[in-house]
Amino acid sequence: MGAGGEGQQGAGVDALVVGGGISGLTTAWHLAKAGVDVELLEAAPRVGGSIVTHAEDGWLFELGPNTVLENNPYVGPLIEEAGLGPDKLVGAAAGKRRYLWKRGRLQPLPSGPISFLRTRLFSGEAKARVVREPFVRAPLDDREESVAEFVRRRLGREMLDYAVGPFVSGVYAGDPERLSVRWATAKIHALEKNHGSLVKGAFAKKKGPAPSGHMISIRQGLDALPARLAAGIPSVRTGAACRRVLRGDDGVFRLDTDDGTLTARRVVLAVPADAVARLLDEATNGDARLFDEMPYAPIVLAALGFRREDVAHPLDGFGFLAPRCESLRILGCLFPSSLFPGRAPPGHVALTAFAGGRTDPEIATWDDERVLHLVTSELSRALGTRGRPVAQHVRRWPRAIPQYEIGHGLFVERARALEARLPGLSVAGNVLGGVSVPDCIRNATLLAERLRTET
Ligand SMILES: Cc1cc2nc3c(=O)[nH]c(=O)nc-3n(C[C@H](O)[C@H](O)[C@H](O)COP(=O)(O)OP(=O)(O)OC[C@H]3O[C@@H](n4cnc5c(N)ncnc54)[C@H](O)[C@@H]3O)c2cc1C
Repeated sequence: MGAGGEGQQGAGVDALVVGGGISGLTTAWHLAKAGVDVELLEAAPRVGGSIVTHAEDGWLFELGPNTVLENNPYVGPLIEEAGLGPDKLVGAAAGKRRYLWKRGRLQPLPSGPISFLRTRLFSGEAKARVVREPFVRAPLDDREESVAEFVRRRLGREMLDYAVGPFVSGVYAGDPERLSVRWATAKIHALEKNHGSLVKGAFAKKKGPAPSGHMISIRQGLDALPARLAAGIPSVRTGAACRRVLRGDDGVFRLDTDDGTLTARRVVLAVPADAVARLLDEATNGDARLFDEMPYAPIVLAALGFRREDVAHPLDGFGFLAPRCESLRILGCLFPSSLFPGRAPPGHVALTAFAGGRTDPEIATWDDERVLHLVTSELSRALGTRGRPVAQHVRRWPRAIPQYEIGHGLFVERARALEARLPGLSVAGNVLGGVSVPDCIRNATLLAERLRTET
């Protein structure tokens, strides 16, 4: 996949994209398709970043993102154009059912207003708070609220603990007391801003055009997408970390890399926040150092395979979430073999449990044996698993997901200031504008469109 030889000086391209995760790859791929002379640089020996698929002995485990929500119009076309349309898998209908761990057992989450009013998962008081929500006033001042403050104010404590809290831990592995409602859950925040109420806003949105909203994957694993995108970019250097980005008075960027010095008229940084800080330190007289302070949540993931008869639960759903105030330490568990075919050999099931996160970082430092002991004992309580798994894979992500916490706006402003100071630079990737794969694809596509029209 490499381009050019060791230590070779790049001839000077129009655009250099640093970072071969889904963000950098999507931008570079769109630019290449539009005929822009683009090169991509990735520090690791492989592209994909957080997207990692592990296939072995009939098992297919996703060790990073497990599913992609097709909630915008950029994901489907990218998969199609990358030639993976025939391999796209839409999650089984059973995946609409999600479970919550409460009072020592798994209970299905309501899927709509009627089942919400009927469920015994929430108390009468919690339901009454939701019914009264349209009458809760928006605050008069502009103080930035945490997700927890916002939900307690509008919906009450129970909805925070058993609905929004678990959701936030499913997306960010985050702490709702610290995440910013404006930045981390921008769509929820906008409902209050635009409709004065979450309930009213949700009903208004239902009347509008709905995106497909399918949970999707790819038959041979999600990492087929980064691999295909890379194959469509004429110049991809893997195993080539960028060390420093400088911009000369002539407006040309000079990048010190493991592959020598490369030059380009424009640079896209689609790397984690600490790398943004390091790469731009000299060019910005230390102004980029703020990015070193962006908080990240660590995650440890245990992908397990069991014989079907060794799991009592029907696994008829997407998975379950475990609220922090209940008795499980794991954050939750997905049922990948219930969603997509080909995830487990016949007669077996695949389970993917997550632990750690912003509220329990220590667990992500445990060794495999300790993680497996915790996960298997908690899954035996929640799902009735028996004995040891027949397949297991533990993956630690010390800096899994950037956290858009209170004050995140400072990072957004600083990124724009750095871009203004170094014209031709774009700070991209999941550090700003959304952490989910579909958000990364949307932002990367829009960035490529902007760069292409600026050519
Ligand atoms: C465990 C886990 C589970 C997740 N689950 C889901 C999910 O189910 N659904 C979902 O939508 N999202 C999920 N996410 C989030 C999503 O996967 C990521 O936010 C997204 O993939 C990030 O893509 P990116 O390209 O912005 O960054 P990354 O994937 O982090 O890519 C950045 C790349 O930059 C490279 N790099 C770093 N420094 C340098 C340098 N100096 N020079 C060159 N290259 C460099 C890195 O090696 C890396 O490849 C999950 C994330 C994790 C970690």
